[in-house]
Amino acid sequence: MAASNSQEGNDYEFRFSSDMTLEDIRASHRYFCKERNWGKYHSPRNVLLALVGEVGELAEIFQWKGEVKQGLPEFTEDEKQHVGDEISDVLIYLVDLAAQCHIDLPTAVHNKLQVNAKKYPVNVTNGTFQKYSAYGEDRSLVGAAVPPERAREEGDGSE
Ligand SMILES: [Mg+2]
Repeated sequence: MAASNSQEGNDYEFRFSSDMTLEDIRASHRYFCKERNWGKYHSPRNVLLALVGEVGELAEIFQWKGEVKQGLPEFTEDEKQHVGDEISDVLIYLVDLAAQCHIDLPTAVHNKLQVNAKKYPVNVTNGTFQKYSAYGEDRSLVGAAVPPERAREEGDGSE
């Protein structure tokens, strides 16, 4: 399924395609490395440093441009392609790093979303940006992460 973006620049409307899972990315990248006998280089430390390098390549595209709008309407098609390439490099190395560390990334992300929901309950943090440690004890009163199905139906909550 292809990604959809019915209203460019509005990330309420933007959706990823459902073509690949994180496991698909992990397996494809491992196969790519195995074919080239590169597995011996993919230690956790080396993959982490490669990931940081790719984040730098991504940041370089945005460097000196000032603030940019959602959907990158001021970017050329080549620049947007470049952003997609570098974000993909970052994700591929991030997935590889998780695998190298034997971290089941979907489970870890699910658990972290639950932790974040408890740290930042809606009734306390709505419309503010302060770190969780700035809030009172009542932050534990609310807080289950919204299940992915409900989040898909209701949008991602960003503005
Ligand atoms: Mg790159």
